[in-house]
Formats: sequence, C-alpha cells, structure tokens
Amino acid sequence: MFPKLPLSLILLATALLLTGVYGKDFLKLHEREPVVQGPGVTRVGKLSAYLPALKNTAGDTDVYYLEGKEAGATVFVMGGVHANESAGMLSAVLLVENAVVKSGRLIVVPHANESSFTNTAPSEGVPTRFEIKTAGGTRWFRYGDRLTNPIDQWPDPEVYVHYPSGQLLSDFEVRNLDRSFPGRADGNFTEKVAFALTELVRRENADLSIDLHEARPMNPIVNCIITHERAKKLAALASIDLDSKGVQMRLEPSPKKLRGMSHRELGDHTQTLSVLMETGNPIQDKLHARADEELILTGKDDFFTRAATNGLLYVPYLENGLSMEERVGRHVASVQELLTVFADLYPEKKLAVEHLPSYDQIRKQGMGQFLLSNGISTAPSGTARQTGS
Ligand SMILES: [Zn+2]
Repeated sequence: MFPKLPLSLILLATALLLTGVYGKDFLKLHEREPVVQGPGVTRVGKLSAYLPALKNTAGDTDVYYLEGKEAGATVFVMGGVHANESAGMLSAVLLVENAVVKSGRLIVVPHANESSFTNTAPSEGVPTRFEIKTAGGTRWFRYGDRLTNPIDQWPDPEVYVHYPSGQLLSDFEVRNLDRSFPGRADGNFTEKVAFALTELVRRENADLSIDLHEARPMNPIVNCIITHERAKKLAALASIDLDSKGVQMRLEPSPKKLRGMSHRELGDHTQTLSVLMETGNPIQDKLHARADEELILTGKDDFFTRAATNGLLYVPYLENGLSMEERVGRHVASVQELLTVFADLYPEKKLAVEHLPSYDQIRKQGMGQFLLSNGISTAPSGTARQTGS
C-alpha cells in the first residue's frame, strides 16, 4: 500500500504542476514578435526617448523612422493601441516593411500599448498568437487585449477620472490607452504611455497622425475615418476618393465631449491633424462561435452570416467573411489616400511615400506577400536585424 499523503501536499503538488505547465505559455506572452526593417527604415528608436520613465518597462516599444532624402512633412502612424484589433497592428507592420519615403518622413509605432499585447481578455477564450505564411516561412503575431495588462497597472479605481478633463468612466477604462490621451508624465502606467505618444507627436512636429483600430461589426462606428475638426477637409476628400475606388470609409466627426481618445486629444493638445480609422473585426463581437486563430484571420463565422442576412451588421459582410486581407487592405489603402490628399492640399510641405500595396493587391495576393520573409526568426524584438535599438 502507498502511504496516505495529506490532502494539502497533494494540492500543493497539483498547483506546482499546473504552474509549470501553464507558466510556460504565460511567459510566451511576453515574447515580442519580430518586425523586419523594410527598405525605407532609416532608424529605429524607442518610445522611452519621449518619456525616460518608460525605459525598461512594458510601456516601452519600438518606433520606426522612415525618412526621405528630401525634407518635408512628418506623418505619424500607430497601430496596437488596442492589441485585440490585429489589422491595425499588422497594417502598421506592413508600412514599416514596405513603405519607401521620397520626401518627408513616416514615423510608425506598430505596438502602441505594448503591455496590452501581454494579456488577453478573461473568459473570452481567445488565442494568444496567430500565424501568417510568407514565401520564406511563417511569421507569428500576438493577439492581445483592449486593455493594459493588470500586472503593469493595478488596482483599477471604482471610477476612472480622465486627466485633464475630469470626465468619469467605468473602472476598467483606466487601463484603456484610447481613453488616456493626452496622458501625463507622472500619471499611471497607461497615462505615461499616452503622454509619451503625445510627446512624440509634439516633438517630431507631426503634421498628420493616423491611429489604426478595429471595431465590432455590430458597432455603428466601423469602416470609417473618425476625424478631428482640423483634419475634416483632408479626411472628407480621402473618404470621397476611397469611395470612388470601391473602398467605403465613412466620415465620422470626433465628438468634442468624449475625452481621452487619440483623434480628440492629439488634435486638441498638439499641432497635428488627427484621425482614427476603424475596420470591422468579428472576433471582437460577442456573436461568434469558437474564438480561434481561424476567426482572427478569416473573420468568417456562421452566426455573422446569419446576422448579415438579418441586416444586423454595420459593415458589408462578405461571403468569405471579413478576412485580415480585407481589413489590412482597407487600412493601408486609407493611409495611402490620406497621404495623397495631404500632398495635394499642402504641396509646400512636400510628402511622397511609395511602395504601399493597394487594397486589391493585398486582398488578392494575401498578407504573406507583403511581410518580409526574414522575419521568420523567433528572436524577440530588440535583437539582430529585427530592430535597431
Ligand atoms: Zn480600438
């Protein structure tokens, strides 16, 4: 007979075993996916350059500078303000790996809230990674959450008081980067990240700032360009041009009384023309069945097909779902259009960016065609050729 073990010992052994098994997956969340420096990247820096307090924290992230030979306008593009809106992050990565700037410069931050890539929403059962095949191998990317990881900012207050407006929001919104702009240097973790991004826009004199997001297809604010009033002409012209090319991106005014969002606060607190774009991402809605890697990539789900048939969605739900190609193609085409219209409206500022694939190219050829294949290394960001800093 085996000796009878005390229950506490059995429970302790089980807890240690589970910690060992699942702890490995947990640590993997903190591994950063490689982003390859494309032909247009002239240097890579860190967000902490704009707020040293972020150095060596999960709030620091890579900043890619693509500078033209000829001086001109500065355009700032960020993805990953919300880490569960994958097409925003991937579109920013695609800019870093493809764009070549002739005049002016692009500054791109693909993982604006790096911390939010290190956790997923409790009880959603979403995957933590997804993969895209390229000619040279498979690239992997993290799927995160809308909010900063509680490891980096805890506890939430009962009511979140936005700085500096005093607006009151629900407790968890205190960890929402897109409710934390313009941020403050001595604020909480998320406010610090927001402050550094705002400071980047200020110090680099960004003429135009573009924030790439996704939203639930049952949310009316989707497939649209949300614009600060100073950017209205630019965004309206881009929206009309996109429409004529078969890419509908409606114009939405930035509400003046809803505070903390990048399109509102960057426009109010800096010199930049500020817009935010939304594409429709089915995994963010509650309607879908299993939330797996397939759903992230194809956006295809039977419940959505039924919802679309019943007119419940605010985006055209394509027969084959709302694929990553459709969503990234839409973002990249919209960025391209905003750059083209900006160059037309402000010719004296000189802006010329080349080599961005079109909506049709991305949809027909697939994302893998436009992701550089030497990103297949599993080396975390910050090593080798993946980043320069
Ligand atoms: Zn968002």
